[in-house]
Amino acid sequence: MSLLCLVSGVYYDEIKPFVRDAEDSKIGTPSKKRLENEIIRGGVKPSYTRPGLYPIREDLYMLMTNHEYGFNGTDANQVSLATLRARAELHKIVNGLRGLGGVWKNLRIVATGEQIGVREGRRIHGLYTVTRKDLMEGARHPDAVCRVNMGVDVHSVKKDDESKGSYNRGVKLLPYDIPIRALIASDVEGLMMAGRCISGDFIAHSSYRVTGNAVPMGQAAGRVGAIASLSNRLPQEVKWEEVKWQVE
Ligand SMILES: Cc1cc2nc3c(=O)[nH]c(=O)nc-3n(C[C@H](O)[C@H](O)[C@H](O)COP(=O)(O)OP(=O)(O)OC[C@H]3O[C@@H](n4cnc5c(N)ncnc54)[C@H](O)[C@@H]3O)c2cc1C
Repeated sequence: MSLLCLVSGVYYDEIKPFVRDAEDSKIGTPSKKRLENEIIRGGVKPSYTRPGLYPIREDLYMLMTNHEYGFNGTDANQVSLATLRARAELHKIVNGLRGLGGVWKNLRIVATGEQIGVREGRRIHGLYTVTRKDLMEGARHPDAVCRVNMGVDVHSVKKDDESKGSYNRGVKLLPYDIPIRALIASDVEGLMMAGRCISGDFIAHSSYRVTGNAVPMGQAAGRVGAIASLSNRLPQEVKWEEVKWQVE
């Protein structure tokens, strides 16, 4: 899990070497290591070893520098505990950077998320389960809702993994389809899923969980749900042709 925050009091021209802008992405994001070293110089070893400062305005940035490991996103107490720990770390990191003076002398937290960002919660069994095999083979489905291009992106399950650095777990991805069957629950009639809770294994989830896929999944589930309820049928009884859906 990660808690993000908005920061201000710094200016682009002065902090550019530490900013995750388009230029930085083109050359392998060296800003991350520089920012990590700067945070350590400020007295804190960040929980996330690939921190990023994402520009929103000349003087407003999103800071991603926190990882909370081993907390269960479906347990409210654990989500609260992770949120408190994360918020404390963000304040320590920002205070440490400000303490360095220079370009950081006026750095301030503007806002933190109302709760920590949960990357993985429940994955519900569906009529089809998207798997690592689908990714590796670039699976195609006649009832495709969206085509996923995002690589395997497993944010370390435990702290030790962070130094191992292989977020993609060595899985090479070919663009693959998410079928509507993965959005229809197998054990509860009339229940549909969309976004990161659809039917998929751990590795596949780390790839399709991002917003660019969650949005078309929500739209497709909405369409199928509407057609099913208007015709008094179950979602799986709706023929995909009726949905008139085009995968980009
Ligand atoms: C820290 C972090 C960084 C990320 N960075 C990126 C990124 O850079 N790019 C990207 O594309 N994706 C990124 N993701 C992934 C992406 O944001 C999520 O996977 C995506 O938002 C999943 O969409 P969703 O609709 O499945 O779930 P969510 O966006 O989590 O939406 C679920 C909604 O349901 C609400 N809810 C929960 N329980 C109830 C209830 N009982 N009743 C009513 N409402 C309820 C929640 O409040 C929430 O609003 C990131 C995720 C995290 C956590």
